[in-house]
Amino acid sequence: MADLLQRPSLAELSAVEPWDAVIIGGGITGAGIALEAARRKLKVLVLEQRDFSWGTSSRSSKMVHGGLRYIAQGDVKLTRHALQERERMLVELPDLVVRMPYIFPIRQGKFPGRWAMTAVLKLYDALAGIRDHRWMNRDAVLKAYPALKADGLQGAMRYTDALTDDSRLVIRVLQEATLEGAVARNYTEVLSVQPHASGSTLRLRDADTGEAHEIRARRVFNATGLWADRLSGTPPVVRPQRGTHLFVATERLPVQDCLTIMHPDDGRPVFVFPWKDQTCIGTTDLDHRDDFNTEPHCSSAEIDYLLKVANSEMPQLQLSRRDILSTMAGVRPIIASGKGRDPSKERRDHLVWQSGGVISVSGGKLTTFRQIALDALKAAGVIDAASHKRAHQDRQRRCFTHQVAAPHGLNNPLGGMARGAALTEQVAWILRHEMVQHLDDLMLRRLRAGVLLADAGASQLPLIKTLCESHLGWDEARWQAECQRYQHVINSSYRLG
Ligand SMILES: Cc1cc2nc3c(=O)[nH]c(=O)nc-3n(C[C@H](O)[C@H](O)[C@H](O)COP(=O)(O)OP(=O)(O)OC[C@H]3O[C@@H](n4cnc5c(N)ncnc54)[C@H](O)[C@@H]3O)c2cc1C
Repeated sequence: MADLLQRPSLAELSAVEPWDAVIIGGGITGAGIALEAARRKLKVLVLEQRDFSWGTSSRSSKMVHGGLRYIAQGDVKLTRHALQERERMLVELPDLVVRMPYIFPIRQGKFPGRWAMTAVLKLYDALAGIRDHRWMNRDAVLKAYPALKADGLQGAMRYTDALTDDSRLVIRVLQEATLEGAVARNYTEVLSVQPHASGSTLRLRDADTGEAHEIRARRVFNATGLWADRLSGTPPVVRPQRGTHLFVATERLPVQDCLTIMHPDDGRPVFVFPWKDQTCIGTTDLDHRDDFNTEPHCSSAEIDYLLKVANSEMPQLQLSRRDILSTMAGVRPIIASGKGRDPSKERRDHLVWQSGGVISVSGGKLTTFRQIALDALKAAGVIDAASHKRAHQDRQRRCFTHQVAAPHGLNNPLGGMARGAALTEQVAWILRHEMVQHLDDLMLRRLRAGVLLADAGASQLPLIKTLCESHLGWDEARWQAECQRYQHVINSSYRLG
């Protein structure tokens, strides 16, 4: 198989004059636009200022879902689109998107009760075209989850949604896009977009070497999520909201399904779910006021908030800070209602808007990336209203048409980290096909070792060093610098301060 993601030099970017579409931002939104545009035979370039998925798209709750809350808020359209995409990905990416049972305990005198949940789940399943929900009685729930507080427990509703590895999903979409002819380059920041009569000129900077360059494009898509206001040329629309997850060893908090528990302070639902052989608790939801260009990290109050909900629903576990393997904070680009709503009440829709030759896209969900891409292409005039509608509604049309034979287990959202020969095979494949520029790209986003392992993968570094030397040509000095950089990111953003 040819290398899947090959990094071009800045000079090579000028071989195409002009690009049909330059997409700024290598998260799920940019990757999705690249795929749908390349499939329509456009010459497509994706530019990412850091690593692919470095922004919000590696820090989500990893759910490919319709989202019960959107139905509860009356947003049937968003839910239907998301469920349609969920079902598509379950079929097309079976190694990367897996169906997951969700358990929603029902307690005496608490909303929602059994019959309200049943009505919502009937609609939820109907929108997805499945029937996969049922009542679990109290004994069955306590048998599966003996640590769950028994007081007032009547039973639980069991339904299904799906889980993924968000960062690996972005890579998979980019690989599909490159197989359709797109080109992508990470660590390349777009400094400015200058519109002119036949398109735009973009000024770029290589984030590692500082080298500057200019390219031309017929169409420019600003898919920079949280950063969208910087290049949109319009008044700001993005309200940054942080959500934090805690990772706990599965032995301390064993769950085989996704449990929904209600926070005793504010009644918000918090999920406890298995991910890559550990347990994840999340999330919080609060306005984020830190600089976007530093890795987000959680506050001490967020850790207390998440431990409190876990301990209030499963008191005998007595989880404490000592049980936390790692933390992961992400920032949602929410389209602001401007109504000063509580962060959790803001809608999760995406917005596509245009100014000065730049088509900006922000907000939305990981799950609906294909639908968001179609909306962006329609706004750019790449597809007309009729083919947009057809593509939106067509449940048969495949999004992923190429086979990408990733090593066994690499994409599995439920499996643990590989060791020994299996790890060697995975890392060698990643280094060949996934444009790793820094050790943190490999450890945090391609392998997730920095999140999943108590030592952040330190014990695997001798093996990884040898592979980076042979595949990437790193010498001792480069290796030392990469280790320092990785340790800094881990300490500042993924471990308790
Ligand atoms: C805590 C949390 C939980 C979530 N859970 C879910 C979930 O379970 N399911 C779901 O469907 N969705 C979920 N979401 C939402 C989802 O993660 C986001 O909607 C999605 O990842 C946004 O992707 P994006 O590509 O628009 O933005 P990003 O992933 O942030 O990508 C934008 C990229 O643009 C790059 N960039 C910025 N400026 C420039 C520039 N000048 N030049 C080049 N590149 C630039 C950034 O570095 C960044 O990588 C969650 C979000 C959060 C925060």
